[in-house]
Amino acid sequence: MKSLKIKDLTATVNNKTILKDFNLEIKPGEIHAIMGPNGTGKSTLTKVIMGDPNYKIVKGEIYFDDIRVNDLPVDERARLGIFLGMQMPMEIEGVSNADFLRTALRSKDENFKLYSFIKELDKKVEDLKMNKDMIHRGINEGFSGGERKKNEILQMHILKPKVVMLDEIDSGLDVDSLKIVGNSVMDYYNEEKPAILLVTHYQRLLDYIKSDYVHIMSGGKIVKSGDASLVKEIEEKGYENFSESSTSVIKENE
Ligand code: ADP
Ligand code: MG
Repeated sequence: MKSLKIKDLTATVNNKTILKDFNLEIKPGEIHAIMGPNGTGKSTLTKVIMGDPNYKIVKGEIYFDDIRVNDLPVDERARLGIFLGMQMPMEIEGVSNADFLRTALRSKDENFKLYSFIKELDKKVEDLKMNKDMIHRGINEGFSGGERKKNEILQMHILKPKVVMLDEIDSGLDVDSLKIVGNSVMDYYNEEKPAILLVTHYQRLLDYIKSDYVHIMSGGKIVKSGDASLVKEIEEKGYENFSESSTSVIKENE
């Protein structure tokens, strides 16, 4: 059981400060939702935690349990058990879904068993109502937006991360797929009790994925935290009323 701890994190992209003294701790078995206006740094937060080299940490710490991961490359963070389901998953030609997952699993599990891997993959593809042939296609090659999101969830099930970040996993999903994906995340939660960080704009995802905490992010930091009832407040009032100085962070650095 591993936790994610972010302490006084300040991070930049293209020399522009996006995260500013950001603090958050997610314990195993906790689900935290982050909401906030477009361009406030939600995706940046997830990418910095994952180790995307385009984003620079200026100050602060990221801990996976008691391991400081600030300087670890993406693949090592993934091997430790940090996972990001991206807002816009990329297409990777030439590497099939099955090959990618098999290689990733082999690299972290000495007891890798091909037969059980294939069985589990088939089962999850069926549960997620994905086409069977998607396993053998290039990663996200020709996948629709919704299919890409399901593919991220498939990866989560197979890789079994301890810290799960899902960035707008609900965008591009029709109502039926939203239900499938929402329930699938809850199934994983009930099986593995990971720490979960959800980025979303909508209550409807949180109807399926029951968050313990909801945070409003503005100007590169959390400006308000509460329980799930905070979502209703946001839907009534909009983000405006919660922003401390939402645009000043960006202006300062331009
Ligand atoms: P959110 O997910 O909250 O909508 P993002 O984290 O995607 O916001 O973006 C925050 C800000 O950082 C935006 O102004 C965005 O344009 C900028 N940004 C993010 N990634 C990059 C990048 N790779 N290059 C340049 N600017 C970026
Ligand atoms: Mg985003």
